Formats: sequence, C-alpha cells, structure tokens
Amino acid sequence: MISIFGSANMDLVAYTPMAPKLGETVTGRSFATVPGGKGANQAIAAARASGTGAAFIGAVGDDAFGPALRASLEDAGVDVSRLRVVPGSSGIAHIVVDDDGGNSIIVIPGANGTVTGPTPEDLDVIARSDALLLQLELPMDAVVAAARAATVPVVLTPAPARELPAELLDAVTLIVPNEHEAAAITGRTDPGEALEALLELVPEAVITLGARGAVYGSRAGERLSVPAVPVQAVDTTAAGDAFAGALAVARAEGRPSPEALRFAATAAALSVRRPGAGTSMPSRAEIDAALR
Ligand code: AMP
Repeated sequence: MISIFGSANMDLVAYTPMAPKLGETVTGRSFATVPGGKGANQAIAAARASGTGAAFIGAVGDDAFGPALRASLEDAGVDVSRLRVVPGSSGIAHIVVDDDGGNSIIVIPGANGTVTGPTPEDLDVIARSDALLLQLELPMDAVVAAARAATVPVVLTPAPARELPAELLDAVTLIVPNEHEAAAITGRTDPGEALEALLELVPEAVITLGARGAVYGSRAGERLSVPAVPVQAVDTTAAGDAFAGALAVARAEGRPSPEALRFAATAAALSVRRPGAGTSMPSRAEIDAALR
C-alpha cells in the first residue's frame, strides 16, 4: 500500500474564444469541473496501478466540491479514512482556456492550506505503507513534518517548484522532478548534469523528460535512461503524477529499477492518451496489457 500526503483540488475550467481582460465580460464556450491536485492525482494513479491500494491523507472543504473530491478518490479505490473536512472552500484551480490552447490559472489552496503536519493516526497509516508520496501543494511546514516523521521511503515530486529546505531533502529517498523543476533545484539545464547534482542531495533521483522519457540515477551507482512509450498524446496533464504513482507501486512490489521505470513510463504514456488528470490514470490491467 502507498500513502500520499498531499493536495486535492477541484479544477474549474472555462473554455472561451478569448480570455477576458480586466473589467471585461466574455461569453465562453463550455465549462467543466475536473478533480485534480497533485496529491489526489498521485493517489488515484497508485490505487489504479496496484493491487495493494493507496491511502490519501489531506483535506477538503465543507463546500459542494468536498464530497465530489472524496467520491473521485473512493471511486478509484483510494482509502479516504484520513481525509478531513474543514470549514470553508476546498482547494480550487480556476482555469481559463482560450481557443489557442493558452491558459491562465488561479489556484486557491483552500482546505489544502489548512493542513499541518501528520496526526498520530496519519502516521499509523504511513507506517503501514510501503512508501510515502509527497508533493509541494501543501504548506511547506506540513510537507517537511511528514517527510521527517515517516518511517518508510519518502518519494518527493518537487512541484510546483519551490525552495527546498535541507531538512526536507535530508528525509527524501527518491526525488522525481520534471526537467524544469530539476533545473530550478540544481541550476543545471542538462538532464545528465542535473541528475548528478540531485544525487548530491538525495540517494535516488528520476528526472522526467516528457516525450523524451526519463533518466534515473542512484548513489549506489545505477544510471538508466528510460525511453517514453510512443503514444498519440491527447492531454499530458498529470503525466508526471501517473509516473510517480506507478513508480512507487512497482518499487513496493520489489521490482528492479529498469522494470519499475518501464512500468512507470508505460502508465504515464497511457495517461496522456486520455483527457483529464485523475480520470486519465490507467488501471493495472491496462498497464500489464501494454507491457506484454
Ligand atoms: P513530464 O512530466 O512531462 O516529464 O512527463 C512524465 C512522464 O510521462 C515522462 O517521463 C514520460 O514517461 C511520460 N510522457 C509524457 N509525455 C509523453 C508523451 N507525449 N508520450 C509518451 N509518454 C509521455
């Protein structure tokens, strides 16, 4: 079982010919509410990719979106017994997409912003899991507290890019940035150089490179380049979350690195063939079929 301490957001997406300027009102084409948030996306990815399940630790508001976010996790088979409901708004991403595909986004942390460190009950769940997945959409103090209190391997997706305190890095087993986040952390734009710089900070690192795949390294001396699985890309939203969730599952199953990374790249590729975030995560049967 994989535990995830992270964010849940409802994405409110307005599709419009042109985004309104300040003070202007425009008539849009359509509207969608899509469950997201990096924590919830990774929880759904891990639950769908595994036979052993995933537990989400986080918060939603007491608004209309709270029950919908809970249901989207439950429908994917995620254990939500540590999901709390707090007064006020759920996490919201207010997104405007114009006909050119350009977007502007306002993220309101809402309930995510109220999460402090893990409770003793949360820590019981984490201790029973094979790994703890963290991202940076909760308050940094809460993320640091969870990483430091965890007694299982900690996998960090350092997104959105933020300054990483040493006390967080000290507690991370495996870091999984994309190439932009890796460059922000290390100051190196070359993935090979960034990988070596990351290994000065943490024992293991994967840098995801979109359609170019991923590179992996460990302080034990392993270095791997993992090609992306060719697919017709429809929506790359949450590809990194699909990758991280599936990678945690494969490692929990004790698979060696080359096999675990191929499993993760396959899950991520399947997720980009479908629109949406949580809704695009492939099932175990789909991943196994694609690997055959
Ligand atoms: P990214 O967050 O864009 O680096 O993507 C994470 C992972 O998703 C990559 O390492 C690939 O394994 C996979 N991926 C992303 N985009 C594509 C694509 N267009 N085709 C196939 N796989 C992809």
